[in-house]
Amino acid sequence: MSMDLLRRAAHAAHDAIRANEDRIEGLDRAIGDGDHYHNVIRGAEVAAKLADELGDAAPDQAPDQALKQIGMKLLSTIGGASGPLMSSFFLAAAKTPGAGAVWDRATVTAMVRDGVAAIQARGKAKQGDKTMLDTLIPVAEALEAGAGDDPAALAAKVQAAAEAGMQSTKDILATKGRAAFLGERAIGHIDPGAMSCCVIVTAICQTVASGETL
Ligand code: ADP
Ligand code: MG
Repeated sequence: MSMDLLRRAAHAAHDAIRANEDRIEGLDRAIGDGDHYHNVIRGAEVAAKLADELGDAAPDQAPDQALKQIGMKLLSTIGGASGPLMSSFFLAAAKTPGAGAVWDRATVTAMVRDGVAAIQARGKAKQGDKTMLDTLIPVAEALEAGAGDDPAALAAKVQAAAEAGMQSTKDILATKGRAAFLGERAIGHIDPGAMSCCVIVTAICQTVASGETL
């Protein structure tokens, strides 16, 4: 069940990133070096392929092992600042207590919390620095706050938090990553990592809302 959810989430994320190529690519061209779409689509491809391979080989395998393998593969295949950061999310989530069994709501919430904390620990950024964390921290908080909601209501809240977090990066200065070198010129552009994370979170919420019991 958890492997199946992991596979579907990985494919949904991959499709959604591909569908948003122009937006993501354009933002990293504007305030970065233009490689963010390439990095993220490569990561999404690798994650979806590996989730399929692992799921086919052993449909009942512990999903934490799959998460760990995905995290290690991301670390070795994606470049840029975002590769190691996204990898650290998966490696930390794999270690959350309960990640090796069937994932319930509380486990997924804790996995996201631990994954986001690992991105913070690795990149030393905080909310308001104009990074992917501006999307991900509100997502982790919305999951905690919506613990008692039904799946569709929770998915809607998490999606709204991701969207608002992403939008919050538009009119602020960047204090981490390449965009920090641009100073005022970064203002008016959404952070590319905040957008790619919002696209991924939205795709996963839609997957969960369409029929999962989570
Ligand atoms: P690079 O910046 O090396 O070209 P990418 O273009 O793939 O790598 O990723 C850029 C994104 O990485 C930024 O838009 C931002 O969201 C994120 N990022 C950069 N530095 C950090 C950091 N220290 N903490 C969190 N996210 C970061
Ligand atoms: Mg870049």
